Amino acid sequence: MKYISTRGAAPALGFEDVLLTGLARDGGLYLPEKWPELTREEIAGLAGKSYQDVAVRIMRPYVGGEIPDADLAAIITDAYATFRHRVVTPLVQVGPSDWILELFHGPTLAFKDVAMQVLSRLMDRALSRRGRNATIVGATSGDTGGAAIEAFRGRDAIDIFMLFPEGRVSDVQRRQMTTPTEANVHTIAIQGTFDDCQNIVKALFNDLPFRDRLGLAGVNSINWARLMAQIVYYFTSAVALGAPSRTVSYSVPTGNFGDILAGYAAKRMGLPIDRLVIATNVNDILTRMLETGRYESREVAATFSPSMDIQISSNFERLLFELTGRHAERVNSLMRDLTTRGGFALTQGEHGQLKEGFDAERTDEAATLATIRDLEAATGYLADPHTAVAVSAAQRVARRPDVPIITLSTAHPAKFPDAIRRAVGHVPPEPETVTRQRTLPERVTVLPNDVAAVAQFVSSRARAGRG
Ligand SMILES: *Cc1c(COP(=O)(O)O)cnc(C)c1O
Repeated sequence: MKYISTRGAAPALGFEDVLLTGLARDGGLYLPEKWPELTREEIAGLAGKSYQDVAVRIMRPYVGGEIPDADLAAIITDAYATFRHRVVTPLVQVGPSDWILELFHGPTLAFKDVAMQVLSRLMDRALSRRGRNATIVGATSGDTGGAAIEAFRGRDAIDIFMLFPEGRVSDVQRRQMTTPTEANVHTIAIQGTFDDCQNIVKALFNDLPFRDRLGLAGVNSINWARLMAQIVYYFTSAVALGAPSRTVSYSVPTGNFGDILAGYAAKRMGLPIDRLVIATNVNDILTRMLETGRYESREVAATFSPSMDIQISSNFERLLFELTGRHAERVNSLMRDLTTRGGFALTQGEHGQLKEGFDAERTDEAATLATIRDLEAATGYLADPHTAVAVSAAQRVARRPDVPIITLSTAHPAKFPDAIRRAVGHVPPEPETVTRQRTLPERVTVLPNDVAAVAQFVSSRARAGRG
């Protein structure tokens, strides 16, 4: 399997190179040259299989022979041994045709663990085989940092440096980043905002000698391997509800468009999916885009669902590539418009294609809390605010009654106790991992909002720069 860039000017690469590269050299994102497909019989054959076995079957064609099946299976088994539920991503019924797919049973209580636990092991294996070290530098406003640190702690060939804005993440999120004791974990509180953290990371990646010397690598959702790992739960959940004989729809709480793009990939692979519903909070660039065909970024508003508070959705570029008929020139021109004019417009044909497979619904803050309250009253089920945005979208979207809709639940409600208290008047019981972290010592380095100070800190601690 070869991978090609959405901008058409970077070399086609194999799986391990794409895994270690992240962003393509032409600024584009990598996609498989051709979507692998499963026949109806093959999909039917997944029924009754463990999550881990389905994961091997789904990821195998993407890995393209670069990782032997036994090694891939071992990585997957090891990755999901960190989960607290034996089916990894269980389904819960909340209405006659309404289901919730719980993706939050990993170590940091958010769906990022599902992919990150696999990504870290794949990267470590690839680097060890090449006799190389890598340095991960990332910025986080909350969930990604904890999931990345949890996944990369103690890995042989990788050091991780995570920047977060001092005083601006929740206590639970901060402790997830500051309590791991492994020597390869470096948590940095920047005296600034999340944007400052992101700008520092960008500056480090743009310093090419620095980037090459330290083998800088990224783990955000533009990394193809993360999306690949997320395709799996679309298959396990659809098959559990009767696919391929039965068609299903999904409602997905969307930020960077990674999770829902994995659903699109599942559909391209042959899974009978009717609708993919893009659920957004008031940061609704994607909902507006579906309504108007125009993609225009605006100011970001802070909401109860912070992991969806985005200005632009980087993975949307992958869907654009498909909507334009894989026309890299066209993607380049749209992306140039986005940079120079803050937006772009789809052609009628492209817009029509988009609406053929996707719906979009926006949920405001009051409706998010009301959804949490109503769902609890009707079923006893407590949804986190991100999940509630998608439950609300599933309730409003036009539906075929015979097609069940599966709402992806991306976080455990205990991660957002303040919003839950406002909605229902009590907080969810605290998972044991959160309680335990409360008593552990924290380790963090506070640095000024200054690229040189961070560069100096990273070079002095990273193993990759030595020798
Ligand atoms: C990251 C995240 C999302 C958004 O997922 P994307 O892949 O960026 O669309 C939604 N909910 C939670 C809790 C998240 O952490």
